[in-house]
Amino acid sequence: MTVLLNDFKRQWDETGEDVHAAVERVGRSGWYVLGSEVTAFEEQFARFMNVPHCVGCASGLDAIELALRALELRPGERVLTTPLSAFATTLAIVRAGGIPLFVDVDKAGNLDLALVEDCLVRRPDVRFVVPVHLFGNLLDVDRLAHIRARFKVRVVEDCAQAIGVTADRQPGSVGDLAATSFYPTKNLGALGDGGAVYGNDADLMATCRTLRDYGQSQKYVHERLGMNSRLDEMHAAILRSAMMPRLHAWGARRLDIAQRYRAGLRNSWVSLLPISTSSWHLFPVRVEARLRTQFRDHLGGAGVQSGVHYPRIISEQPALSEMPFEIDGPLDQARQLASEEVSLPMHPHLHDEDVERVIHAVNTWSPA
Ligand SMILES: *Cc1c(COP(=O)(O)O)cnc(C)c1O
Repeated sequence: MTVLLNDFKRQWDETGEDVHAAVERVGRSGWYVLGSEVTAFEEQFARFMNVPHCVGCASGLDAIELALRALELRPGERVLTTPLSAFATTLAIVRAGGIPLFVDVDKAGNLDLALVEDCLVRRPDVRFVVPVHLFGNLLDVDRLAHIRARFKVRVVEDCAQAIGVTADRQPGSVGDLAATSFYPTKNLGALGDGGAVYGNDADLMATCRTLRDYGQSQKYVHERLGMNSRLDEMHAAILRSAMMPRLHAWGARRLDIAQRYRAGLRNSWVSLLPISTSSWHLFPVRVEARLRTQFRDHLGGAGVQSGVHYPRIISEQPALSEMPFEIDGPLDQARQLASEEVSLPMHPHLHDEDVERVIHAVNTWSPA
């Protein structure tokens, strides 16, 4: 038996009955896209995130695009973002018409907010910032709020990895809008694709609502050229009645596992990232780049699956070679983390024995 990065079979054992009930409810209702289930889930999710509004959509990618379009990003405008994230963060910026401007990350992998300030001082033309709470590690929200106020930039927080963090200020509380994903691996995942925009501003959220459904403000009245990025009743029902009620307990279990890892991992070749407040979407460690394959092979041999988030920085992806983008600074930290990061199994269905197995596997490794 391998300790998996994500274990959806165990998740099904726990949630299957509730999922079946949700599917039954939607099937019988005879209404399958954008209905009362979506509305009820949006309300529940907004309450959880401590904001007044939420708009469900088809994916995290779309959520970021919807938010940028609602904020009236103009074609060709620069959008400051991180080169170390899911490709979707940048793809959404490009699809919304923006030109990505990459700034380097800090030792924990998040946008280096000192460098962001430094860049914005030199670049008064930059009006948009899309930061990511990478690995679930909460960015310094006070500093982010300060940056937003000082430079009058529009901020869309990418919270796809940060749902369920226990903190005074939830991810998404600082930005003009926040975007997240319900992709199955996320802390709040559906049995398929889904996403949401959430925030405080009623007008912006109404625009997102219009944009997700062909730009309709009322039936057959198309105010704008929108998208088809609707949330299904089925996914909304599953999220609301099978997943949301477990989110607190799952978050607590992730925190417990992170604490076990931090107490148990003892290997001078393997270092932890300086992460304090996190949803523990992932548990990243780092090893020297030249040893990463060897380390991962050792883990695999000991029955422990591992991952890499992310092996290549976004500015060096082939898809960007033909595209306009800008880089501010050398991106050395991002490149180094991309070459050194290894993700250990982290999900709420790990048993204590699995956690022990991972710790033992890490601690018994030394480079050949
Ligand atoms: C998963 C993810 C996305 C994209 O979400 P999808 O639902 O897969 O489109 C965007 N940003 C980050 C940081 C993610 O982890």
